[in-house]
Amino acid sequence: MTMYFEKDASLKPLEGKTVAIIGYGSQGRAHSNNLHDSGINVVVGVRPGGASWQQAKADGLTVATPADAAAQGDLIAILLPDMVQPQVFEKDVLPNARPGSSILFAHGFNIHFGQIKVPDNMDVIMVAPKGPGDLVRRQYQEGKGVPSLMAVEQDASGEAFERTLAYAHANGGTRGGVITTTFAEETETDLFGEQAVLCGGATELVVKGWETLVEAGYQPEVAYFECLHELKLIVDLLFEGGLAKMNKYISETAQYGDFTRGPRVVDDETKQRMKAILKEIQDGTFAKQWSDEYAQGLSEFRRMEQEDYNHPIEKVGAALRAQMSWINSDDDEGESETKSAA
Ligand code: NAD
Ligand code: MG
Repeated sequence: MTMYFEKDASLKPLEGKTVAIIGYGSQGRAHSNNLHDSGINVVVGVRPGGASWQQAKADGLTVATPADAAAQGDLIAILLPDMVQPQVFEKDVLPNARPGSSILFAHGFNIHFGQIKVPDNMDVIMVAPKGPGDLVRRQYQEGKGVPSLMAVEQDASGEAFERTLAYAHANGGTRGGVITTTFAEETETDLFGEQAVLCGGATELVVKGWETLVEAGYQPEVAYFECLHELKLIVDLLFEGGLAKMNKYISETAQYGDFTRGPRVVDDETKQRMKAILKEIQDGTFAKQWSDEYAQGLSEFRRMEQEDYNHPIEKVGAALRAQMSWINSDDDEGESETKSAA
């Protein structure tokens, strides 16, 4: 594994060049402002008159249509929702991008699963910050940086690697460290993490634990604190110092329960199912299922989303969180630090 820090990187490969950032959402807004503040010439490609257009202008950036931005870019960053990227790439980027330009992604999905085909005369590169956009921006402003992955899939310009590292550097990534990977590794590990551990696994563990206590007659509020609220304290310890730090701060009784009961909850059969989930990612089954669901209008997606929100733990949680003024549970502002990096 190779890891690059500030001392290893330079902005030179992007000097005198224009970076077109297509999309001004979570990652787009962060990258645009970070690169701009790093002295890079940035043009933001957004739909005229839309909310993102207004926002980018208000933030003091140069805006253009996605097509015009693509025409100006020596490096074109595609920071749209993954399922939207193929159509915008075909319609706006491909007809306008110049030979020798670099096409950059923040997640490898569309390249790895063949949803986007980039011509041989352009670079295909990736900078994937391991955190949500507003954290990428906030940490940059505080002089810190979110660690990032970088990859080069296709080097047409002869300087794909240097441009990628320069972009990660300008975005603040080298302050936290930039690790080299491949599109395949980034895509497959990212999907696996969010499905089996971070978003899918962790929430099911919380909900099933809460249901177990409530069905046994315990108070829903007590079950909420036990199975959801306290998870943050444990995750903070793991984040700071791994299993050893958590063990140091929990009681011996909790440790003994962990050692003897934990492996009964998540056992070798769970691991076999994890392996099956990884296989579906690797062989493209998941990508096809998700692309089909998106194409047919997201009806099943919306149904499952509603099912999550209708779960009784949501009602109990909302009432308890309303009592704790220091927990910011607004939908858009501020909560993203605790939102998954996936
Ligand atoms: P997002 O959903 O926040 O981006 C929305 C942007 O896309 C907005 O500017 C919106 O106006 C624009 N947009 C939506 N539909 C459009 C259309 N049809 N035509 C033109 N513009 C359209 O996206 P995001 O979450 O920042 O994800 C961007 C990329 O970054 C993805 O590849 C994602 O996998 C990756 N990524 C995201 C995160 C994250 O925390 N959100 C983390 C790492 C990597
Ligand atoms: Mg769930």
